[in-house]
Amino acid sequence: MAAKHLDKAGEPFTLVSMNEYHYLTTLLHEAAGGRRKPKEYAVPISHLLKSPSSKLVVDEVIAIDKEHRVVHTRGGERSYEWLVVALGWIPDYFGIAGLAEHSMTLTNLASAARIQEHIVSEFARYEQDKDPNHLCIAIGGAGLTGIELMGEILDFVSLLCIRFGVDRRLVQVHNIEALPMILPQISEELRGIAQQVLEEKGAKLHTGTRIVRVTPGVVWLEDGSNISAGTIVWTGGVRANPLLKEAGLTVDRKGRAKVNAFLQSVDDDHIFVGGDCSWYEEDGKALPTSAQLAAQMGRTLALNVRSIAHGRTMKTFHPHLQGTLASLGREIGIGDVGGVAVSGMPAGLLKEATKMKYMWQLGGIRLAATKGVEIVHL
Ligand code: NAD
Repeated sequence: MAAKHLDKAGEPFTLVSMNEYHYLTTLLHEAAGGRRKPKEYAVPISHLLKSPSSKLVVDEVIAIDKEHRVVHTRGGERSYEWLVVALGWIPDYFGIAGLAEHSMTLTNLASAARIQEHIVSEFARYEQDKDPNHLCIAIGGAGLTGIELMGEILDFVSLLCIRFGVDRRLVQVHNIEALPMILPQISEELRGIAQQVLEEKGAKLHTGTRIVRVTPGVVWLEDGSNISAGTIVWTGGVRANPLLKEAGLTVDRKGRAKVNAFLQSVDDDHIFVGGDCSWYEEDGKALPTSAQLAAQMGRTLALNVRSIAHGRTMKTFHPHLQGTLASLGREIGIGDVGGVAVSGMPAGLLKEATKMKYMWQLGGIRLAATKGVEIVHL
């Protein structure tokens, strides 16, 4: 979003991105659950950057050398005067044995596509050998990622049962959560609705149970029991890209770099940090990682980089948390919008509306209107 605003202002900059496309992080669960083809959740960056002075370099950042103001990439190195770091997050495995090796994560569009393909291939394998493990899916962690993925997968497996002629009662979708409840960040009322909706769709929710180990095809719980599953997905936590800590920036326990009110690193005023990489405190409390705040930060980052580069006064960041919306499958959702609890189809529709708003901000009416049409090759 920062690049989009810099581009709009005609400010020359270079965007280093691992992919030639931008994907909709908040909708990865939809891609994993087969709602649409993965490529429909991506937009070519060339469609977003219009100004001739904006430059895209497809490369991977591997280190930031703040002393020499150089970013190292796989393809070489790039010096900078002002750097905006918005490198996102990676899964946090908390040192759980076998978890990284034997589970999938919902980290990016490619991993979402992998989950979808894997579930389909497990159904195809069941057709061959009738091994019930192929029809068992285990998701670790019942935060917003785990629950949105769960809702989507529950709808997806119902469709796959029709396609493969499988009795729906044979499919098991488990969620294992260490805390005594799912979705700790939402109200008890909404949590109850989420639990009811998911259980009606056939979810098996195991709360107050920690995953302690994962071996090939088996999730081990702290009480010694285990769940054998052909599909294991870890949604138990995330941390900021480790390059921030490696660069010597002050980070919190989630690896986010501390920033001041202008979103500038407290360690280096030539570095700005946004999105899930940014540790911003308001009234002594760290802001949560959130897509809506990341988009708001993008606007401030672009404004402040331009201001500092042209000797103007920077503006302080004013976060505006509008609430939380979570889908529980293709049509139903829950949410807290400005303190008002919404659930059912209206919440699902609101989530669709926020999707359109984001695409509008990103690419104007053309992008909002053309999404749903395949415009990117992954
Ligand atoms: P999270 O940290 O919010 O949730 C992870 C869950 O996994 C926690 O409830 C935790 O108790 C559980 N867990 C951790 N270790 C475990 C173990 N060993 N066994 C079982 N359970 C374990 O992570 P997330 O859901 O990926 O969300 C990351 C961030 O992204 C959050 O800030 C979230 O609010 C945001 N997000 C928002 C939306 C939305 O607004 N719709 C959607 C997805 C993510």
